[in-house]
Amino acid sequence: WKTIDREISSLQERYSQIDSSSVEKFTDIPLSKRTLQGLELGKYETPTEIQKEAIGLALQGNDILGAAKTGSGKTLAFLIPVLECLNRQKWSPQDGLGALIISPTRELAYQTFVVIRKIGKFHDFSAGLVIGGKLLQDEIGRMNRTNIVICTPGRLLQHMDETANFTADSLQMLVLDEADRILDLGFAQAMNAIIENLPISRQTLLFSATQTRSVKDLARLSLQSPMYVSVHENA
Ligand code: ADP
Ligand code: MG
Repeated sequence: WKTIDREISSLQERYSQIDSSSVEKFTDIPLSKRTLQGLELGKYETPTEIQKEAIGLALQGNDILGAAKTGSGKTLAFLIPVLECLNRQKWSPQDGLGALIISPTRELAYQTFVVIRKIGKFHDFSAGLVIGGKLLQDEIGRMNRTNIVICTPGRLLQHMDETANFTADSLQMLVLDEADRILDLGFAQAMNAIIENLPISRQTLLFSATQTRSVKDLARLSLQSPMYVSVHENA
């Protein structure tokens, strides 16, 4: 056994015992050494409530419907499970698209990209932004070689429609970030079309600041037996 296999199986053995109420530090969660190093680099030590609740359930393989207000730390609540998912499968740059993170706007996609570059620094995965503003053609080659794509719905749909060899067949994890804003911006139909194009055997994490009717509709369409994580911290 190589060291990496040993690490992965010992982490997985701890998944069933995760108890969010006894988690104080990120080091209390069974996370790969590489992710813990990235968190240390970002000076993230203590998980927020939504992170404590959602990360464990996501590591256990659940789809997640997470609601917590702006500023509660939803980004790490999905980025950590994304890194751990690909790490567990020893995903390598040649394996192509493994995780797709959909953000409402270019700015939010960029902010997520900055965070994953930091906490993912010690992993070997490639991460890229697919947010328009450049020639579609220039993104196509990169798209199929990028392990973690952070995109806006319109641009992703454009690739699905116009890029002949675009494929999401190997996708392991889908993240819908700020789902309420995605829908507010009029992307409901685009989201339906995107989800139809993705493999069913994936894990999906949907995060939103509010739980509107349309968020529930999107959740019904995209999630399988989700675990609900709702955090209302006292002001
Ligand atoms: P949300 O998406 O819920 O609005 P973010 O993920 O953007 O929240 O996080 C809000 C802020 O809190 C960011 O500046 C982020 O760096 C910081 N943050 C998130 N998680 C932690 C943590 N565990 N420890 C310290 N700061 C954190
Ligand atoms: Mg956010």
